[in-house]
Amino acid sequence: MNNKLYGKLIFELSKPGRRGYSLPVADELNRYQLPTEMRRAEDANLPECDEMTVVRHYTNHSANNFGVNNGFYPLGSCTMKYNPVIDEETAALPCLAGLHPMQPVETCQGALRIYDETQRMLSSLTGMSAFTLNPFAGAHGELTGLMIIRAWHERRGDTKRVKVIVPDSAHGTNPASAAVCGLEVVEVKSTPEGTVDVENLRGLLDDTVAAMMMTNPNTLGLFEKEIPEIAQLVHDCGGLMYYDGANLNPMLGVCRPGDMGFDVMHVNLHKTFATPHGGGGPGSGPVGVRKGLEDLLPTPRVVKQDDGSYTVNCEEGISVGEFFGNFAVIVRAYTYLLSLGKENVKMVGPLATLNANYIKESLKDVYELPIEGLCKHEFVFDGLKDKQTGVTTMDVAKRLLDYGYHAPTIYFPLLFHESLMIEPTESESIDTIDGFIETMRIIAEEAARDPELVKGAPHNTPIGRVDDVLAAKNPVLTYKKLIENG
Ligand SMILES: *Cc1c(COP(=O)(O)O)cnc(C)c1O
Repeated sequence: MNNKLYGKLIFELSKPGRRGYSLPVADELNRYQLPTEMRRAEDANLPECDEMTVVRHYTNHSANNFGVNNGFYPLGSCTMKYNPVIDEETAALPCLAGLHPMQPVETCQGALRIYDETQRMLSSLTGMSAFTLNPFAGAHGELTGLMIIRAWHERRGDTKRVKVIVPDSAHGTNPASAAVCGLEVVEVKSTPEGTVDVENLRGLLDDTVAAMMMTNPNTLGLFEKEIPEIAQLVHDCGGLMYYDGANLNPMLGVCRPGDMGFDVMHVNLHKTFATPHGGGGPGSGPVGVRKGLEDLLPTPRVVKQDDGSYTVNCEEGISVGEFFGNFAVIVRAYTYLLSLGKENVKMVGPLATLNANYIKESLKDVYELPIEGLCKHEFVFDGLKDKQTGVTTMDVAKRLLDYGYHAPTIYFPLLFHESLMIEPTESESIDTIDGFIETMRIIAEEAARDPELVKGAPHNTPIGRVDDVLAAKNPVLTYKKLIENG
């Protein structure tokens, strides 16, 4: 868009005296004057704009945002799947959205029922015994789970367990959560096939191991086939098994971490259970535990009583937040699960897996596939097959923007130099997926025919290629008022 007003900040559009509406001051307002010491000495420095300027400003900004609602978003590891509108509708119902966390339990029985039933549905989908919905994100769930594991060891008087084993392919939050929990991170290597190296693991196990964290399918989209043996080894040395279920999509209705020998796990409602995410929240990272660990779940807890009513247990215990997590996210997950139902939820995993394999097989003649074979919900290319052109994964990702696609995850996992990680999810149609495959092939042709075209991309976006290094080294984090500075 070539409009001069476009791309400006709302403060830059401000003109003294510009107004949308001028409402008469109500007498009511004057009756409740704030004490002087609580009032501003000067008026707040707010932009002054007419209504239409404001509407256009924000509408243009929103149209500039890329989301699942305007295009294909094949971002691996973070599952950007479609979030059905009905989930938004229920989350916005005034009777739910208007609840106050401090109101008496007799007046919010319905909300407590939603908590309780969501916990039960998650338990039955994962094979865990009980869940808490209190954590606010996946990483927060990991921390909660590790706190539970530490408390369990401490309760048995086993205080020398300070190590957490984390695969080298793990999501960065795994080692970070272990460190925040005050535990020591020990890395276990991957085999050339991309799964946990069991021989390497054997050498790391002793009576100082508190837990092993695993992601399955792992960040390469590969199913960890050795889990029964790994779980046996870790349990034999007295450690617990932690399952990072942030990306539970491919597992839904197919298999359950609880049946594989995991003791504690988290899921990401904002990835698997249809809550919009990206941009930092809000999220929810429920934590589930197997039998025998339920009493270590954090408080407050929702308790169903014999007469069918609900009460809240606020006893001392692990606490990871004041109230019950992000309620609106939980309502969305609850709606999502109820709207799919028991039968359809079983289709999520197989369809997500089919879509990923279809893309992988359709493109592996032009993109480098480092690990052959069946993947789960996502897979990783190691850049273009033809490395002569000098066109990198970054260039391919930027060129995709020109064609109206969100870029896949790039340069993660760190196991390859040119990682390009693609996750289509179950909700995309064959037409969308075929369109993406065709575009990826066009970009590969462009790279061979006119590499500079791809290296200079994006050409059609409002902002071209930014200097990532400069942005990281010299971030401008505050807005300087340009108007005042001339
Ligand atoms: C996204 C993700 C996490 C972290 O979840 P957040 O909600 O972003 O904190 C952890 N592990 C894996 C495998 C993930 O994909």
